[in-house]
Amino acid sequence: MKKEEKEIEACSECLSLDLDFTPGGASAWLTDTGFGPVGGHPICKNCQKFVLPIIFASKEDYEKAKKGLGK
Ligand SMILES: [Zn+2]
Repeated sequence: MKKEEKEIEACSECLSLDLDFTPGGASAWLTDTGFGPVGGHPICKNCQKFVLPIIFASKEDYEKAKKGLGK
């Protein structure tokens, strides 16, 4: 295994890294399509939304994306 290859998961809305992957939390909630289980969607603690995290292979990729958004 290589070192320093930790994947980074960031909020797709604001690129915050402060995501809450509460296991088993909020197992059911109202969605656009009705009432259904949440399949491992984390909550972004920054924007308080359920988000699909963007996965970056490295911190460098993450920093690039962040710059690209001008944040
Ligand atoms: Zn966010």
